[in-house]
Amino acid sequence: MENKSVVIIGGGPAGIEAANSLANQGLKVTLIEKSDEAGGNIRNWVKLFPDFSNAEDVRANFRNILKNENIEFISNTEISSLYRDGNHWIAKNGSDKTFKADAALLTTGFEVFDAKRKEELGYGIYDNVITSVDFEQMYKSGKITTAEGKVPERIAFLNCVGSRDEKVGNHYCSRVCCINAVKQAIEFKELVPNAKAFCFYMDMRMAGQFYEELYRKSQEKYGVTYIRGRISEAAATMDNRIQIKAEDTLSALPMKMTVDLLVLMVGIESSSSTTELSRQNDVLGLYGFSKSKGLYGNDNLTNQHGLFLAGTCKRPLTLPETFADARSAAIEIVKYLKTI
Ligand SMILES: Cc1cc2nc3c(=O)[nH]c(=O)nc-3n(C[C@H](O)[C@H](O)[C@H](O)COP(=O)(O)OP(=O)(O)OC[C@H]3O[C@@H](n4cnc5c(N)ncnc54)[C@H](O)[C@@H]3O)c2cc1C
Ligand code: SF4
Repeated sequence: MENKSVVIIGGGPAGIEAANSLANQGLKVTLIEKSDEAGGNIRNWVKLFPDFSNAEDVRANFRNILKNENIEFISNTEISSLYRDGNHWIAKNGSDKTFKADAALLTTGFEVFDAKRKEELGYGIYDNVITSVDFEQMYKSGKITTAEGKVPERIAFLNCVGSRDEKVGNHYCSRVCCINAVKQAIEFKELVPNAKAFCFYMDMRMAGQFYEELYRKSQEKYGVTYIRGRISEAAATMDNRIQIKAEDTLSALPMKMTVDLLVLMVGIESSSSTTELSRQNDVLGLYGFSKSKGLYGNDNLTNQHGLFLAGTCKRPLTLPETFADARSAAIEIVKYLKTI
């Protein structure tokens, strides 16, 4: 086993966690990341749901993992082709630099939905329409303000942006954005206790451990108001506030509301590399995500000998789910390497 090697494409949480498990078993791991540092999408998060842990602590742990002498971490390298050559897997970047290993693990993850595709919601048109990712950036600076620098008195969060939406072709639920809206509404209310926070939803999906409790707390302790309904349109008023049109589907009445800031809870889409590398290897599933061999016991395997999958390249997952999936991929890879 000591001479065996694995190439991992994608240095996000799934790739790093799998590299850690494999390297600790003495395997040589090449972990390739297209950007200049590891961490994937969690580089953008400040505090994590549901317990408000610091994302920076997770990133610090990643930096420690990458010190393992069995892991060669290669940044600024985007893999554009992945194929099997005899008994090996070859990953290649755009300038034909190749990486060869006995097994390959795809951890190319997700991209957040581009909110400009929902033109009617005004993102990229009105300054006071932002996304949940923009909210994180503002929160990092310690202040949530409007484009004019004012502290918002009224804020609205809109769930399901780019998910559960036939118009954009994404029927699935992204699973992370309901609880993320609860988390961000609480963060906002802690910064601006006297402000009003509204959250528009289709249904609040609180399936994870401690999610329901946080949802209750957001109402009982922080006074966040939840409105069942979808915003159909957002437009700026003369004073650059945002007027939203929605239907309250519990009372079946149309409504209009003006807020200082509208936050769009953008969903998870497959990353372009996930789709392309999956297509090249005939493991392309629905919505551009990678397809495993089967959900029940074969979820890290593919129909290609020696090619494995982990994390959100398969479907929307939370961070704990991603870590568990990456460790399970490492177990499958070790099993496979013992047979070749
Ligand atoms: C708005 C939002 C907030 C969230 N907040 C939380 C939270 O608070 N708590 C929680 O548990 N979960 C949260 N999540 C979910 C969490 O972000 C994911 O579970 C986690 O990032 C998945 O990790 P991953 O490694 O599968 O994918 P990613 O994080 O997407 O990492 C994939 C990596 O692969 C790299 N890559 C892609 N293509 C290539 C290529 N061709 N060559 C080389 N490298 C490549 C990318 O650059 C990236 O670094 C949130 C998700 C969203 C959308
Ligand atoms: S998690 Fe909530 S906000 Fe996200 S797609 Fe599912 S129902 Fe919509």
